Amino acid sequence: METISKAREENAGFLARKHLATLLEAGRALGYRWQGPQLRDGAIVIAPLEEPTALPWGTGDRQAAGEYRTRPGDPRRAFAWANGPQALKPLVFAPRETLWRVKRDAQGRLAFAAETPLVPRTAVLGVRACDLAALELQDRHFLAPGREDPHYAERRRGLLLVAVNCTHPAATCFCASTGDGPAAESGYDLRLDELDDGYIVQVGSQAGLALFEQLTLQPVSEAQWQAAASATEQAVAAQHRVLPPGNLSGPLFDNLDHPRWEAVAERCLSCGNCTSVCPTCFCHRQDAAPGLDGASSDQQRSWDSCFSEGHSFVHGRSLRHDTRTRYRQWLTHKLGGWHAQYGRSGCVGCGRCIAWCPVGIDITEEAQAICAGGEHE
Ligand code: SF4
Ligand code: SF4
Repeated sequence: METISKAREENAGFLARKHLATLLEAGRALGYRWQGPQLRDGAIVIAPLEEPTALPWGTGDRQAAGEYRTRPGDPRRAFAWANGPQALKPLVFAPRETLWRVKRDAQGRLAFAAETPLVPRTAVLGVRACDLAALELQDRHFLAPGREDPHYAERRRGLLLVAVNCTHPAATCFCASTGDGPAAESGYDLRLDELDDGYIVQVGSQAGLALFEQLTLQPVSEAQWQAAASATEQAVAAQHRVLPPGNLSGPLFDNLDHPRWEAVAERCLSCGNCTSVCPTCFCHRQDAAPGLDGASSDQQRSWDSCFSEGHSFVHGRSLRHDTRTRYRQWLTHKLGGWHAQYGRSGCVGCGRCIAWCPVGIDITEEAQAICAGGEHE
């Protein structure tokens, strides 16, 4: 049809909700397995996705400091929620994996072998703008020229990302203030705007175009474009938390003795939840896991946190032996040191660390209090 051709020429089209299954089928035909959001144990999580019916239709979320709950939402919508505890991080930076193995042969010689993951090509549906921004930051770390991490690189290579613009930010979200959302501007292969009866689909890459060309699309009407733009504007307006703008290195490192560090340490449990859910945190530890046969050992990498005692363990002692110095390390690195290392802040405003902190510590409040200098209540 001429109209469909025209829509494809413009790399945008409207996918009716009843045709959403064709997106998954087309992805599978191109060799991808799907992952997507699903309701499990009271949270929206990313899991293997077989059918659109498994998506969280009619589910919203309510998030606040120290609180995450799902709640009933619009049954016509599968993406009318902000985010769940995961971002893309577990798909590329595995929570635990073997990096290499060593075995002793019958003659007593040791043979070392790298363990590279075999990862099927994976398409992810429902990626948020903040998660794309976080992935781009993790790329800067794990794919830095000359020190590329082969495990991350292998997983990253096979990813196809279908973003869905966020229309229902949580009270904890502040991606508008960090410039990372709520609409996806880059880093996606396809981008969707969810409307009541379907999706505006836009192409962001050659891989996305290959998928796009398999879809049954209609031209996007002016009213549909306007509905999508209006939803994004409302998502910006709905955000009330803000992070102080710019490079906070100066104000943070100038206030290393601020009393607020002690005040936050009185509440902080040093549990590391904030770093686990943070889509940009990349700290990890490596441990040897000797085999029971006494002739082999695996070198394993697992997520670590600057809140753990072992994270700063050097020459027989922990350099950051109390919660005050650990929280300070997290905040000063995330919002200050990252600028020198990676050219921007390490926070993309997803708000997960606020919602999933068991005592409701709010990074925006802490940053504002410390960067303002002086003493604060
Ligand atoms: S620091 Fe908090 S709000 Fe910022 S990216 Fe990490 S989890 Fe999200
Ligand atoms: S700030 Fe909250 S989530 Fe992070 S370590 Fe402290 S108590 Fe745990």
